[in-house]
Amino acid sequence: MNETILSKELRELDIQHLFHPYTNPRQHEQVGPVVIERGEGVFVYDTNGQRYLEALAGLWSVAVGFGEPRLVEAAAKQMSMLPFYHLFAHKSHSPGIRLADKLCAMAPGQLSHVLFSNSGSEANDSVVKLVWFYNNSLGRPEKKKFIARKNGYHGITVASGSLTGLPANHNAFDLPKIPVIHLECPHYYRFGLEGESEQQFTDRLIKQLEDTIVAEGPDTIAAFIGEPVMGAGGVIVPPVGYWPRVQEVCRKYDVLLVVDEVITGFGRLGTMFASEHYGVEPDILVVSKQITSSYQPLGAVIFSEKLYQGIADKAGALGTFAHGLTAGGHPVATAVALENLAIIEERGLVANAKEVGAYMREGLGAFASHPMVGEVRGDGMIAAVELVADKASKRKFDPVGKVGAYLSGRSHEHGLIARNLGDTFAFCPPMIITKSEIDLMLSMFSKALDDTYTWAK
Ligand code: PLP
Repeated sequence: MNETILSKELRELDIQHLFHPYTNPRQHEQVGPVVIERGEGVFVYDTNGQRYLEALAGLWSVAVGFGEPRLVEAAAKQMSMLPFYHLFAHKSHSPGIRLADKLCAMAPGQLSHVLFSNSGSEANDSVVKLVWFYNNSLGRPEKKKFIARKNGYHGITVASGSLTGLPANHNAFDLPKIPVIHLECPHYYRFGLEGESEQQFTDRLIKQLEDTIVAEGPDTIAAFIGEPVMGAGGVIVPPVGYWPRVQEVCRKYDVLLVVDEVITGFGRLGTMFASEHYGVEPDILVVSKQITSSYQPLGAVIFSEKLYQGIADKAGALGTFAHGLTAGGHPVATAVALENLAIIEERGLVANAKEVGAYMREGLGAFASHPMVGEVRGDGMIAAVELVADKASKRKFDPVGKVGAYLSGRSHEHGLIARNLGDTFAFCPPMIITKSEIDLMLSMFSKALDDTYTWAK
């Protein structure tokens, strides 16, 4: 069967039977799938042999690039030794134990225990339950509400999807379903007021946080959750001084600080964790994605000794901690994570994210003067270009997303895969990327942007 016939067959089967996440099904019936067959370094190839530079590292996740043989070997070795075992009822396995130990050693602050999951959503679901269980243990049954932010992304399960602050994840899904308050999105370009400095914007956000806690009653607010840099919400970099002041308010009112580092964890901002970069010590740190470079599904909730003691007291009294996932902390996933983290450390990928990330942001910065670009933003090796209908007034396109989707399509034609979040175009390439590959990425983006400008005019 030649490639073309194979692609055609896969396309038809896909349309008939595969229901795609984050896809418009009606549009999919018309356009069909792009079937990716293999990957190498920062590139992936489709079934027609077309090469693409993967400028979003898959889904913000393939830190070491595609086709890394050491991860394949680590998986195969563990698969032949022990293809599955669980962690329920005192059972354990070496890669799970070693990874938990490593994560606690790497994590900022004094985090001492790890609960594994298969995904970021499940990890954040577990966060909600751990926090509720903890406050029940302490005899604080009212202290259950979460504070999150508009445009934040924490996943799509019922609890984590409730923490997410994007309308598309709530509309028609009957969310939120847990007690959560979504505060202002910390995006100065979009939500800073006329004449308000960035520092004043931070002051206003912090005041809003404190006023909310006081108005609701501190004895009802359990935790604050946030991504250090919002990813899916449009690559939103926090305003100056934001994070340490969020931490200060949380400490003042005995509110747990949950830092969702599902995207930023393991080097993305040029430090092992973004918490270090922004100067905070979370009570709970959530990781996934880059922990295995997404070669295997894995998430982890890393939490403090204080939480552990409270939870252990209650679980001890009840007879068990009745929560856990069959494949959470799977031996193959944890073995791959250990090898992946070793590669990140040995190859200096955190330093590469810092250096080449700065080069990438400088290159993208040149597009700031483009008539259709409202803002270029980013930190470390994650960045975005926001398109606007009118530069001076920052007016958005109507409808939002149409121009972004066109840009995404043109990029694809030029051999570049990145992601349009509405009309914001996000870049988060594998952390192995070189400066010359960044040059290639920028030239493909430039062509796509010019095509889009001509089309939109
Ligand atoms: N948290 C953040 C910050 C994320 O970016 C994501 C996914 O993009 C999640 C949680 C959810 O992770 P998953 O898709 O593995 O459930």
